[in-house]
Amino acid sequence: MATPLYSSKLSGSKFKNWIKAGLGVLYTKQGIEPFVYDEIEQFQQKCLSDICNNNGLVAGTTCSSCCTENVIVCPTNRICNVGRGKCKFHRNSATQYLPAGCPNKICHNFKNDIQNAHRYYGPSYKNTDASQWCGNAWQIAKCFMPPDGYKDVTCALETDFNGIISVIINYKAFQSKIKDDLSKKSSIFEKAREVGRAVRHSPKLEMEDTDLQQYFSDLQNLLSDPANLSADKAAQNAKTKLLQLQNDTLIIGKDDIRNVLDDVAKAVQDKIRTEIDEHRKEAEKKKLELINTTNESVKTIANQGDVSIAQLDNALKSAIDKIEKQTKESLTKVQSEADVAKKQIHECADKEVNKLEVKAEVGVKQIEESTDKGVSNLKVEAETGVKQIEESTDKGVSKLKVEAETGVKQIEESTDKGANKLEVKAEAELKKLSAKADEKIKQIEESTTGNKEDEYNKLKEADSR
Ligand SMILES: [Zn+2]
Ligand SMILES: [Zn+2]
Repeated sequence: MATPLYSSKLSGSKFKNWIKAGLGVLYTKQGIEPFVYDEIEQFQQKCLSDICNNNGLVAGTTCSSCCTENVIVCPTNRICNVGRGKCKFHRNSATQYLPAGCPNKICHNFKNDIQNAHRYYGPSYKNTDASQWCGNAWQIAKCFMPPDGYKDVTCALETDFNGIISVIINYKAFQSKIKDDLSKKSSIFEKAREVGRAVRHSPKLEMEDTDLQQYFSDLQNLLSDPANLSADKAAQNAKTKLLQLQNDTLIIGKDDIRNVLDDVAKAVQDKIRTEIDEHRKEAEKKKLELINTTNESVKTIANQGDVSIAQLDNALKSAIDKIEKQTKESLTKVQSEADVAKKQIHECADKEVNKLEVKAEVGVKQIEESTDKGVSNLKVEAETGVKQIEESTDKGVSKLKVEAETGVKQIEESTDKGANKLEVKAEAELKKLSAKADEKIKQIEESTTGNKEDEYNKLKEADSR
């Protein structure tokens, strides 16, 4: 049985820890944005001046007429899937590869420079728009981000922490600006990336005190890299914010909490779209509810301006109370549904007893004995069914509602089916018994027991679904 994710009370302090970690990631991202942008812009300018020098072009020559498809040969691994002769990337006559290169002698050279600057020689061309390489340095930065999810991003502000970290790791020349070894799996940037993941994928939007401390120290290590960041104004500003956040003295910008929550909401919505397991999907929906409720609570207090930690505390508490109340209400509803189910099962069992008692009155003592055994079996089975339904109230809230309804229906159906079978069986056996009673008693007992086992298996099956 899966663990009930929202049956236990949400922890206010762990939820607050989680928000603080999210804010820590946001401030760290803001702290390195200018550093990353400057470096990529310098790369862009150096590429352009080198290309002009090497091709006899007038300084300042640019091109905005080549699209990405024009400079990427077909097929290219991970971009083009030519398949049965038709490439979805180079899809029409305007988006064919230009074997002669850029008419202004810029773009195909630019593409080679980007290729060579990538740590793994695999830029994400799917993300980028080559027609803007000369005009928007961030279109070049996007070549160093993960291949999916950045197509519509146009600047550092719109890029998430993972995207920015990827630029530092994948653009080889960053190594000259960072003391830590960027090729290591345990570099300060890889560790910071893990913090972002832990926030996004937290199963209950909670974080332990010890984890929070570790994450803060990972983020501070990144912002303290002695080569450049330790003297970078934005990075040091972020570091100060992290310290204040840790000491609960920070005044939080009114949009910061919403930024953190919206970022995670996006990840949660993706999960809801793709998750197949109903139970996990339900847990993600609960997370989204909590995020939305928290956003509302924060909005009411942040109307006046920035938010103190004490105000944040109150907003989180009121969000949790609201969610708790909703959960309790739906639990009560499920409980009363389970009670109805219990009653229905008992009624079915009672009906069964009456039918069998009529048969007994016919006066065949042997049948009466064997069917009595059947009745008590049925009762035990019905009670097991009820017990299992009661146990399943621990599962998920909305899921249980559906389970209880189908469970009852299935038990009802199979009980009815059992009753009919038993009736037919009893009648047949009665006829036979009137002919030669004593000899048949054993067989009747056996067949009734067999039938009961069938019935029991059905009940078990119905519940285990
Ligand atoms: Zn192609
Ligand atoms: Zn061009």
